[in-house]
Amino acid sequence: MPIRKLGSRLINQITAGEVVERPASVLRELVENSLDAGARRLQIRAEEGGRRRLVVTDDGCGIPRDELALALERHATSKLASLEDFARLRTLGFRGEALPSIATVSRLTLTSAPPGAARGHRLEGDRPAAAPQPQPHPPGTTVEVRDLFYNTPPRRKFLRGAATEWKHIAAVLRAQALAHPQAAFEAQHNGRAALRYPAVGDGTAEADRLEAILGRAFVEQSLPLDAQADGMRLTGWAGMPTYSRSQADLQYLFINGRVVRDRTAAHAVRQGYADVLYGGRHPCYALHLEMPPEAVDVNVHPTKAEVRFRDARAVHRLLARAVADGIAGLRPDAAGHDAGHFRALINENPQAAAPARPRRLPLRALPEADDALAVLADADAAAALPPLGLARAQLHDIYILAENADGLVLVDMHAAHERIAYERLKSAAGADGIRVQPLLVPQDLELRPEEMACVEEHRELLRELGLEADIAGPDRVRLRSIPSLLARADAPQLLRDVLADLIAHGRTRRVRERENELLSVMACHGAARAGRRLSLPEMDALLRDMEEVERSGQCNHGRPTWVQLSVAQLDKLFLRGR
Ligand code: ADP
Ligand code: MG
Repeated sequence: MPIRKLGSRLINQITAGEVVERPASVLRELVENSLDAGARRLQIRAEEGGRRRLVVTDDGCGIPRDELALALERHATSKLASLEDFARLRTLGFRGEALPSIATVSRLTLTSAPPGAARGHRLEGDRPAAAPQPQPHPPGTTVEVRDLFYNTPPRRKFLRGAATEWKHIAAVLRAQALAHPQAAFEAQHNGRAALRYPAVGDGTAEADRLEAILGRAFVEQSLPLDAQADGMRLTGWAGMPTYSRSQADLQYLFINGRVVRDRTAAHAVRQGYADVLYGGRHPCYALHLEMPPEAVDVNVHPTKAEVRFRDARAVHRLLARAVADGIAGLRPDAAGHDAGHFRALINENPQAAAPARPRRLPLRALPEADDALAVLADADAAAALPPLGLARAQLHDIYILAENADGLVLVDMHAAHERIAYERLKSAAGADGIRVQPLLVPQDLELRPEEMACVEEHRELLRELGLEADIAGPDRVRLRSIPSLLARADAPQLLRDVLADLIAHGRTRRVRERENELLSVMACHGAARAGRRLSLPEMDALLRDMEEVERSGQCNHGRPTWVQLSVAQLDKLFLRGR
């Protein structure tokens, strides 16, 4: 065949393939156009999952009558005039491709009325050369897209059922609504109200909006983040490690208001959760990253869902740090974040999650209690209780029951001890190396060949970890020391566990990570096992340690170490005072 130029219609049909995959991708383009037009209110109507009809009406700046036809032309945009503009892009769109692409694969109608215009006008996408017809319309724009892919049957076949397509639409709306809290979104599906997200500002708090979009549990169990570095600012919410998910389905990242997927960012956030999340679990987050537009290239993907950073390492650093710091702040005194997960646990009834009514109980000293308790006999003094309160009892040799100003605190003794031991080992390792305690009687152990090889290979690392082992024969080592923090642990068992870990994990991971993992193993084995009976002073000492140590709200495996049950919640359990 001779070379020839493609006609503009064919070109549009081909590019449409890049931009328009399904109703939800049409919706994303239309919503982004509305937001670029400064809309504060978007109304979305869909029929049959948007396959039959998809309409977006906004109250934005509108399109003048004379520009309606241009809006449907390829490479026609009002958002960009020069290459300099392009480098400093602040709009979501810029390619001038969406409307013409959509118009070639559907029946599109564009109706608009710029504020101040005497009346609105409409133009049919299949007759762009015709004169726009007068049409009443409030200030703003309506784009109606009917019968998507009616003229491209192969693509139509790829569409799923209405329910599935609607799910994709709702997902796009959630993401866009999270990215643009200043705009109200209302959506109807098949004539019925389906979603309603009032704008933040007019009587709606940020948390309300977040709750409307992601649900109550997310709001209750997330930490607000706000961090700055290298000319960037990160704000938003990161779920507590205990609120992780089996799927990576609650992860939102917005860069300068754009909904994006980015591996660097996802990896950084994951790293921020490194010590506190189970291997297979996924964190939840909705994060906004603001940066100078010239620091990010958004023109790397036809639907602009992916971006490229000028300084990816700086982005990685900021995200990982901000998340790690946020979690590190999860100490018992960071009240407000702690109660949520338990509130959700104890009662599905939303009323149970109402803010706890602080109520002071007169405290009675228990027989074994120490002197400090006598002071607390006075109800007013209850407020002076430490955040995690005073230990009252131990249950099944697993749980510590403590009383604090809000009510009852339950502590998983082993998990708490493990977390404390881990954090201490970590800071010891970070500061001046782990403190080592020589064993009074060095212990000989018999090892398997691969364990022997591992000892030889990692002798230096083992020493740094406080486990000094000499080769004492072809299949024997003599263990001479133990980390002093773990003085009470079973030393030979500890060495075996550490070796097993080294053998299993090999040397692929970075040293620091491996060290922390090892420290975590050591902490786990060294920690007070469930099943040991503690005295009240021992329990109190553990509670005080928890208050002091970073991240003590989570054990090393992401389980909570303690939960609060307020007096109000207890009252509720017993239907009191209603
Ligand atoms: P782009 O968004 O990349 O500029 P589009 O094809 O999506 O390209 O839109 C073309 C032009 O139509 C936009 O540049 C804008 O001027 C105009 N436009 C589209 N939708 C709207 C809207 N909802 N309100 C105001 N103007 C719009
Ligand atoms: Mg656009």
